[in-house]
Amino acid sequence: MGAQAAAAQLAVKLLRLCSIGLAALLIGAAPPSARPDDGPAAERIRAHVEFLADDLLEGRDTGSRGHEIAANYVASEFRQLGLTPGGANESWFVRVPFRRATLQGTPRITLTVGGRATALAVGTDAAIRPSLADRQLSRSAPLVFVGYGISDRRLGIDDYAGLDVRGKIAVGLSDPAPGIPGDIASHLASMQGEVAAAHGAVGFISIDDPTSAAGDVQRFATRPVIDWVGRPSSGGVRIALSAPVADRLFRGAPMSLQQVRTAAATRKPIKGFNLPARLSVSAKSEWQDFTSPEVVAILSGADPKLAAEHIVLTGHLDHLGVSKTAKAGEDAIYNGALDNAAGVATLIEAAREFVQSGKRPRRSVMFIANTGEEIGLRGADYFATHPTVPADSIVGLVDLDMPLLLYDFTDVVAFGSEHSTIAKAVAEAGKGMGIRVSPDPLPEETLFVRSDHYPFVKRGVPAVFLMTGFANGGQQIWRRWLGDTYHSVKDDLGQPIRWGQGARFAELNYRIARTMADADQRPMWYAGDYFGETFAPMQPKAHR
Ligand SMILES: [Zn+2]
Repeated sequence: MGAQAAAAQLAVKLLRLCSIGLAALLIGAAPPSARPDDGPAAERIRAHVEFLADDLLEGRDTGSRGHEIAANYVASEFRQLGLTPGGANESWFVRVPFRRATLQGTPRITLTVGGRATALAVGTDAAIRPSLADRQLSRSAPLVFVGYGISDRRLGIDDYAGLDVRGKIAVGLSDPAPGIPGDIASHLASMQGEVAAAHGAVGFISIDDPTSAAGDVQRFATRPVIDWVGRPSSGGVRIALSAPVADRLFRGAPMSLQQVRTAAATRKPIKGFNLPARLSVSAKSEWQDFTSPEVVAILSGADPKLAAEHIVLTGHLDHLGVSKTAKAGEDAIYNGALDNAAGVATLIEAAREFVQSGKRPRRSVMFIANTGEEIGLRGADYFATHPTVPADSIVGLVDLDMPLLLYDFTDVVAFGSEHSTIAKAVAEAGKGMGIRVSPDPLPEETLFVRSDHYPFVKRGVPAVFLMTGFANGGQQIWRRWLGDTYHSVKDDLGQPIRWGQGARFAELNYRIARTMADADQRPMWYAGDYFGETFAPMQPKAHR
């Protein structure tokens, strides 16, 4: 699961929410133990996770040796299953060309309000993100407030109407826009920088809520930025501001930031305006280029006509690597046992089920272990942009990310499925195994835009991503886990992982993919669905 800026902020909120119940829950936690339902399928899940989440793989960071070893492991498993290499030049791999930008020295950021220029303290007042476009960046531009920063013809919303942002820095609220369904609001929030650039802005500032702003500044000041080389949307100046500095931008403007926040909180529409402020920035970034593999395998379909189409299963193999701030003697390795060694184990075992069923699927099935997920879904984005099969032959996708295998799940949440006929495949598969499909219980986590299915959705592919649900104790376990284990060194093999649940999760995802691969009709977006109409306008649509 990727943590993007908005998501990180939401995790903080969630942490606050669940800290009260934490102590009580810890007392009731069960010790790890062998379970009677753990048969051979469970042992196979366990074998993969124990290998991939071992300290020896050092957290499988994108571009690291540990991740390369993990990729070789997955390729080896794919070969043992009798799959065909689906990477570049008949290999198992597509090597993604990455660039890492790191700030060199301390950038200069100057804010001018009412004719008075103030140098901002970088790292506390403000920070600029390292640049993948300009090694030596220097900009001075006026600021324009663009509300929620949405410009979307389908929704009939244009926060840029009447505003000229060309050559300027757009300033927008990070809050999801009111009155828009969760998935769409998450998507729009993640597009703010790109929308600003499309309108000619030279940069974008996201105004976060006061409690999260300091964290944003810290992150921008200290974290490198990584993207694949040549990604069109990776340019543009991105700046984070502390809450007091954000307030200052609005001094003398038609509304104060406080008034804007109040309007946002009461879900009132907000119109943009020019801010009587200017920012001047200069920053030096150092670049390092490297590559990291996507692991790709194909099981050819049996139907002479449908075999040209592909159903894709993905799961990200990368995780967060090794902590650079851990003290001597402390655990520093982000093993990512559940995020996402467990998802890759599911991927391999779903592939095994296809092979061992004795009946080849009608459509071809492609299995991809992605890289670069934790740095912003970059491996999946690269592959979706440079697929090794014709892009329009990818007709449906199942993403496997972070199954929480700590309880006996009885329901699942199927992100994205309601937009397309995949909903039926999920319902059918769930019914066959006595597993309910529940609505999203964590809309504030914006999970729909936080995993590897999303870059494919943006290229018109109907997709689904399952999360083990909140029933049967799942709620408490999810809240606790997101609060104290998610993206920490504690996501390791010391957790009481129920391997049999991994086997069930693999079976469920296999059934969904199987239904998609064998159906007469390829998965179809529903007519009138936002994502289908936006990203696949020419594809035939289904009626609900
Ligand atoms: Zn993650």
